[in-house]
Amino acid sequence: AKADGRNAFRFFDPQMQQLLAERLKLEDDLKQALSHSQFVIYLQPQLDDAAKLVGAEVLLRWQHPEKGLVSPLEFIPSAERTGLIVEIGAWVIDQACAVLARWEKSADTRSLTLAVNVSARQFHRADFATEVGKALSRHGVSGERLKLELTESLALENVAESAARMQELRSMGIHLSLDDFGTGQSSLYYLKQLPLSQMKIDQSFVRDILTDPNDAVLVKTIIGMANNLKLEVMAEGVETEAQRAYLREHGCTLYQGYLFSPPISVAEFERQFLAAPLA
Ligand code: C2E
Ligand code: CA
Ligand code: CA
Ligand code: CA
Repeated sequence: AKADGRNAFRFFDPQMQQLLAERLKLEDDLKQALSHSQFVIYLQPQLDDAAKLVGAEVLLRWQHPEKGLVSPLEFIPSAERTGLIVEIGAWVIDQACAVLARWEKSADTRSLTLAVNVSARQFHRADFATEVGKALSRHGVSGERLKLELTESLALENVAESAARMQELRSMGIHLSLDDFGTGQSSLYYLKQLPLSQMKIDQSFVRDILTDPNDAVLVKTIIGMANNLKLEVMAEGVETEAQRAYLREHGCTLYQGYLFSPPISVAEFERQFLAAPLA
């Protein structure tokens, strides 16, 4: 009864009530967004050591009728809570495959990859790999063109199950990248059991790499771990030439960040980064 009393108090707190109302409104708006095609994908280029384009990360945006372009940070948590992320995520993968299918037509773009972020709720569904496979064949795209970015917590939630799911995806040629690396506490022991292709250093470590000795040590450790596991290392959030130089000096080979470009629309990306016009 005491606990109930406390909940009741919280419920009638006008501030709490407003928050709750806003949350419900957002969830309702998200359903609308799906049925009214208000989502768009943006692309952020990924480059290698020689500053050659190797692909892009797919980043979701919500083209809201009143609010304009809404960041995923504002709506992904809601989409995860309600489970809508499963449908939204499937839509993102389908869009990525459609872009890859178009790039398949030119020799310049045929080898580029697209990296798509995947939520735990999506990944842990039994039919996830099957659905990704269907999207690839729907667009006639080979699995090697697609990379999925998974977080540490997602991968380590249930290592045995995750490893099996990841193996399923790998057998379709799909590459797997461990996103936001360094923010969790993965041990080498568990990471060794996962069929990863890449580790992605979180931007929070890249940001202060030249000013915070702790971050510098961490980044060096991450790169060492990746080399140990024979994985590629991609740094995200690279904003300055000095950061890139430091990262390169310590063995990083792939880069993404405002130094090269912010995330931009697919049309803008093709205009800026692809030499020949596509059909
Ligand atoms: P993330 O996967 O860590 O993506 C990197 C974020 O850093 C992106 O934010 C990107 O715009 C931003 N960024 C890129 N370069 C720089 C830089 O040089 N400096 C700084 N300060 N930031 C940079 P964005 O696009 O707002 O996405 C936020 C998060 O939303 C992503 O973080 C990802 O976790 C999630 N997200 C985005 N799209 C999807 C999606 O399709 N599905 C799922 N499940 N999550 C998504
Ligand atoms: Ca990511
Ligand atoms: Ca990140
Ligand atoms: Ca720091």
